[in-house]
Amino acid sequence: MSLKLESKAIRAAVAKLKFRTSAFIDGKFVKAQSGETFITENPATGQPLAEITACAAADVDRAVKAARKAFDSGVWSRMKPSDRKAVLLKFADRLEANAGELALLDTLEAGKPIGDCATMDIPDTITCIRWHAEAIDKIYNHVSPTGPDNLALILREPVGVVGCVVPWNFPAQMVAWKIGPALAAGNSIVLKPAELTSLSAIRMAELAVEAGLPAGVFNVVPGLGETAGQAIGRHMDVDMVAFTGSTEVGRYFLKYAAESNLKRVVLECGGKSPQVVFADAPDLDIVAANAVSAGFWNMGENCSCGSRLIVHKSIKDKLVAKIAKVAKTWKTGDPLDPSNRLGSMIEKPHLEKVLGYIAAGKAEGARLIMGGKQILQKSGGYFVEVTIFDEVTNKMKIAREEIFGPVLSVISFSTEAEAVVIANDTNYGLAASLYTQDLNRAHRVARGIRAGTVSVNCFSEGDITTPFGGYKQSGFGGRDKSIWAHEQYSELKTIWMQLA
Ligand code: NAP
Ligand code: MG
Repeated sequence: MSLKLESKAIRAAVAKLKFRTSAFIDGKFVKAQSGETFITENPATGQPLAEITACAAADVDRAVKAARKAFDSGVWSRMKPSDRKAVLLKFADRLEANAGELALLDTLEAGKPIGDCATMDIPDTITCIRWHAEAIDKIYNHVSPTGPDNLALILREPVGVVGCVVPWNFPAQMVAWKIGPALAAGNSIVLKPAELTSLSAIRMAELAVEAGLPAGVFNVVPGLGETAGQAIGRHMDVDMVAFTGSTEVGRYFLKYAAESNLKRVVLECGGKSPQVVFADAPDLDIVAANAVSAGFWNMGENCSCGSRLIVHKSIKDKLVAKIAKVAKTWKTGDPLDPSNRLGSMIEKPHLEKVLGYIAAGKAEGARLIMGGKQILQKSGGYFVEVTIFDEVTNKMKIAREEIFGPVLSVISFSTEAEAVVIANDTNYGLAASLYTQDLNRAHRVARGIRAGTVSVNCFSEGDITTPFGGYKQSGFGGRDKSIWAHEQYSELKTIWMQLA
């Protein structure tokens, strides 16, 4: 189903939606052994949407057994690469055929604007699966430079059973970033979506099996972090965990691995990304448009949100005025209305957390120049205004902690060296942007900022061909996207042969 981005068509499509609410294990929909469920709600209305199967350790164990059986059978792990590619390409086609439905599921469950889900999240999800599929039969192994009496093969083999634990901010896309390369490498998967957004992940597992993915290769166990998530982290027969979420929860997975079977752990965590604008930035209108995207896109619920605008003092007032003008054009409201650029916060406790940061900004002496309040309360949803603080120092709480809301902090600087120090004065290192016309400065500062991705004269995470992940406490052990993502889902094997 493709979706016409027009209110009447959207309402009609919503009325026809059927939610898949069970776990998906060994190719079938199943209930939790305990019979327990939890409610998922629409954060734009505060109304319940569906009752989802709540998996616990026993269900995770069942899914791991199915994944292990599929892995050991070789039905996927030893499938001819070109055949594996064909199945994943068909999976991408099934996603594409159901793109409108997947976009609506993410909008309804996460409060994300339908325009973003339909034109960015789901197309990127499909591209991700297709790109990794196409890579499968183009990756070669190695022969080492041994002497004439030996032959040494250096092979990449799938890791085995991979546990994936993902967040709610880009529900379908975060699933794709994990399962694309993990399936391409031949692994079996047990995935736990975020408690707040299970629907698109469950549907994706069903579509994968429709495309010919063998039963047991991709299992989905919806449930809570402390139960289902922890059970994956501590399972003795899970070979690897690929996690995206907060730094706080990422740490738990290192502990779970240490206390269980030393499973491999790859973490993609939070950020507090700087946008550094020099006085010679090419065009302040373009900078302003990018700064608004960086600060407010996806309601700031974005790991690479450019929440710290570090701007040269000589252009600060002019740029901030332009940013405020652009930000006013980003309408916040019903995420099903395609004219809205911004939807709701993910849940009430998160809205309260964001409002708490706004209060902290005021209390610490930052100057609130735009927004700052909860809005649209009559909807029952959790909306907050686009908010800008000027005169922020990098010591303030709003400049140090990940807010995960539409709150931009403006910090000024005098010299290039000072700008780099401020940019790097953070525990995080996921992404950064810089704006200058000076080519030498662009290279110097891009190398000087300790972050996984630095975009120059734009706000961007690159595309599917570029690795994504963080320095410092933004990440651990690997990268999402690109060919480098394949490596983390494989083991390196040496076969050393004696020749007669
Ligand atoms: P979160 O609270 O860390 O949750 C992430 C996942 O971990 C969820 O599935 C969650 O389940 C699970 N979890 C929670 N507590 C757990 C525990 N004790 N043991 C095992 N699993 C547990 O993160 P979030 O609030 O969903 O997402 C926001 C965070 O994700 C932000 O920090 C953001 O920066 C980060 N993020 C990073 C990237 C990146 O690529 N670097 C991309 C997107 C988001 P529940 O849903 O039940 O809590
Ligand atoms: Mg959470």
